[in-house]
Amino acid sequence: MTAPTVTLTHLPATGGPAIALHGGAGVDPASLTKEQAAAAREALAAATGAGREVLDAGGPALDAVCAAVRVLEDSEHFNAGRGAALTTDGTAELDACVMTGDSRAGAVTVATGPRNPVMAARAVMENTDHVLMAAPSRELLEGWGLDLVNADYYVTPARLQMLAETGSFTEYRHGTVGAVARDAEGHVAAATSTGGITAQLPGRVGDTPLVGCGTWADDATVAISCTGTGELFVRGAVAHDVHARLRWGGQTLTDAVTEALDELIGARGGDGGLVAVTPAGEAVLAFNSPGMYRGHDLGDGPVTAIG
Ligand code: ASP
Repeated sequence: MTAPTVTLTHLPATGGPAIALHGGAGVDPASLTKEQAAAAREALAAATGAGREVLDAGGPALDAVCAAVRVLEDSEHFNAGRGAALTTDGTAELDACVMTGDSRAGAVTVATGPRNPVMAARAVMENTDHVLMAAPSRELLEGWGLDLVNADYYVTPARLQMLAETGSFTEYRHGTVGAVARDAEGHVAAATSTGGITAQLPGRVGDTPLVGCGTWADDATVAISCTGTGELFVRGAVAHDVHARLRWGGQTLTDAVTEALDELIGARGGDGGLVAVTPAGEAVLAFNSPGMYRGHDLGDGPVTAIG
């Protein structure tokens, strides 16, 4: 099978702070109305700005990626937090992961309750000796000081309609949001959050909360946040694969990203994309799907795109 072409934006290293984010690769830009596209780009710019503000104030990359992802989780437009994709039962089950370049990580899967699943993932990293927690209890989330919501907070009319129109899981009505950043000290971090794939079975876990699959960060190489056909990102350990290509393969970031998406996703019949930023402040935003909601700011103002 011929892999679909990878669309890639490469931003050379500035040596300064950088943020890049995505709002999911499950979008066909041609299917959006002008109003929908404008609203999505407004949210992408707001998220980029929230992350950039942290970096400009000298804050850590972890704070920047969490700030950016929270904005996207709060927007109904994206498949994370409110507006998450729904399972066959019509419920939202949230997955999220954070990782910092010094190899700390936290994640939640099949979570209901946190308004911002990314903050629950961060709380696992900061408050426990664990990396991944499934279905964390409300008591636990409350004890970590997180904002809690009821299960119907996540469910929007648009996602209910999408579920009704989706014949099967294999139609891949997907999304995900994520951000990567490099701070003033040269540390990197990544955060990813999703509702998964429309019409997934309750209990299904994709790549997003799995360290090395949908999310990765290493101060020696790169921070990565992925979106796309989750099962293939899991089977290819794609985020770690890009890191390994840089660490042991000596590849450039653009080659590493392009080849990972080609070989592990496109050639296996899937689609998706990722954002990446290095400790030098070099960034790549790439996808092999019709579009990917995305934004970046390397110090010269926010740039957003969909197609
Ligand atoms: N990768 C996500 C998942 O499989 C979905 C997506 O990014 O489109 O849960």
